[in-house]
Amino acid sequence: MRQLLKIGVTIDKLSYIFYSHLHPDHTGELVPLLFATKYPQTYERRKPFMIVAARGFANFYEKLKLAYGEWIELTPGLLKISELDTTGRDHLDCGVFDVDSLPMEHTDMSLAYRITEPGGRSVVYSGDTDVSDNLVALAKGVDVLICESALPDDMKVHGHLTPSLAGRMATEAGVMMLVLTHFYPECDKVDVAEECRRTYHGPLVLAEDLREIDIT
Ligand SMILES: [Zn+2]
Ligand SMILES: [Zn+2]
Repeated sequence: MRQLLKIGVTIDKLSYIFYSHLHPDHTGELVPLLFATKYPQTYERRKPFMIVAARGFANFYEKLKLAYGEWIELTPGLLKISELDTTGRDHLDCGVFDVDSLPMEHTDMSLAYRITEPGGRSVVYSGDTDVSDNLVALAKGVDVLICESALPDDMKVHGHLTPSLAGRMATEAGVMMLVLTHFYPECDKVDVAEECRRTYHGPLVLAEDLREIDIT
């Protein structure tokens, strides 16, 4: 919410929120968002918004309500939840754009999303994942692949990628541009771009907060 404010977007302007999975580093701000949507009159919502997530999200929200109760319960009809399949490809027509999803190798309810605008330009966000044929399939020929690259090549852990593995996924998928993100502090000690160059030779961006990328 703080980062959105820096680009002049208040939370009442959000139409969609996509969750790749439920780990706290990805969902930690859900409770403050719901609370801020409900209470200060300034941010009281006028139009409904949708949370898109893997099947099981509604149950996760119910569990949060066991702890926070009505503090995070919104006016009926304001929040819609759309749950996508955790076992195979799924699709959601959002009107202004289309969404395709496939399960990733991380938790048993982790998804990557491909968002395609009517003109055909598209972006894939991997969420968190290990090496994944589904990621390669979802990202085939995409304009921008935003891919996790949590740890350096020599510190690989189960459930996450490294720069050269993310590069391999990007090369296999034939993406137009690769954006690496989700860097653990260990990444500060290595040359992430150089490690990625072992397997990928196209346009490469190391993500920073508030970075904007034009797709032409
Ligand atoms: Zn995770
Ligand atoms: Zn994560």
